[in-house]
Amino acid sequence: MFQHRSFADHEQVVHVSDPAVGLRCIIAMHSTRLGPAIGGCRVREYGSEDEALDDVLRLSRGMTMKAAVANVPFGGGKMVVLLEPGQTKTPALMRGVGRAIARLGGHYITGEDVGSTVADMAEIREETDHVLGLPPEAGGSGDPSPSTALGIFAGIEAAVRARLPGRGLSDIVVAVQGLGNVGFNLCHLLHHAGAKLVVADVRPELVARAVTAFGATSCEVQSVHAAPSDVFSPCALGAGLNPGTIPEIRARIIAGGANNQLADETRDGGALMERGILYAPDYVINSGGMIQLAAEFLPDGQADVRRRVLGIGDTLSAIFDRSERDAIPTHAAAADLAEARLYSPAALTAAAQ
Ligand code: NAD
Repeated sequence: MFQHRSFADHEQVVHVSDPAVGLRCIIAMHSTRLGPAIGGCRVREYGSEDEALDDVLRLSRGMTMKAAVANVPFGGGKMVVLLEPGQTKTPALMRGVGRAIARLGGHYITGEDVGSTVADMAEIREETDHVLGLPPEAGGSGDPSPSTALGIFAGIEAAVRARLPGRGLSDIVVAVQGLGNVGFNLCHLLHHAGAKLVVADVRPELVARAVTAFGATSCEVQSVHAAPSDVFSPCALGAGLNPGTIPEIRARIIAGGANNQLADETRDGGALMERGILYAPDYVINSGGMIQLAAEFLPDGQADVRRRVLGIGDTLSAIFDRSERDAIPTHAAAADLAEARLYSPAALTAAAQ
């Protein structure tokens, strides 16, 4: 574990087995320095246990950075549930997840992620209070994806101001990869702001829906990153920015919701900068959903969520300025900001209150 390529001084990593309900999961708490570790529950088949461990280690560290940059009093965590080939999710399995979280005594708080739903969160809630994103009728703030999409929208506006001065959303083309909860909501916002859309998804029915609803142009899944566009918006799974795709990208801006977009931060973040492509760091631009969910635990509640989500645009503008001024890649400027917040005495004092 301590030698693992993605181990980044994680505070605690817990492996859980509950054969009675078919549960095997890993919960990683990267940091609780600023508050309880917050991060979603990913449910999927993995090629190997190592692949799952790598995923949960990387994602939980990303959550620490995300919470720090978003200035919410939480740390970073994540959990992955490893499904066997052909195994389906059941309410009993999700109750098992809830019991595993309950044993952590509040150090980890879960929510929705790829492969889990609001209904799953309701099952988890039967076993523990440490879950966010319940439906409004159950006292939660509901699906975080619209807030995530709103933050990405604000981020795209900031990136266009920085890289395409004089142009607005009504005269740009955005290529959206992945039309799930985040991608589709984002398309809706962009369409209403006048942007033209190029879209791709492995599910043809989602592509057809976007073509009908937004007049989008459909594109092959394999080539959407290389579509002629001003902005490429990855909203599917991670590691899509790598030595195979980066040389083919034609957009001048990358701004999307997927987590862990850079297959290798240093190598690929540097390559984007060399190509003159402005990259909006994933954990900054996609933090809108987390801001909404974190507000469930905060005294000011949901009242301030929209303003704070739109503030993602200002945070990104500051990161773009720092990157330009000091000639460093944007992912490095974002990491500096996260670490400054993570280790600032003021943040620690706020976390202790
Ligand atoms: P989702 O599962 O609803 O949507 C993902 C979509 O991507 C699906 O429609 C899927 O068919 C499609 N897809 C998968 N592989 C593809 C490929 N190779 N090419 C094109 N499309 C492909 O998930 P989501 O909630 O929309 O999240 C999307 C991404 O954003 C994920 O990486 C997630 O971790 C991240 N994210 C989501 C939120 C949120 O609030 N939901 C918040 C932060 C980050």
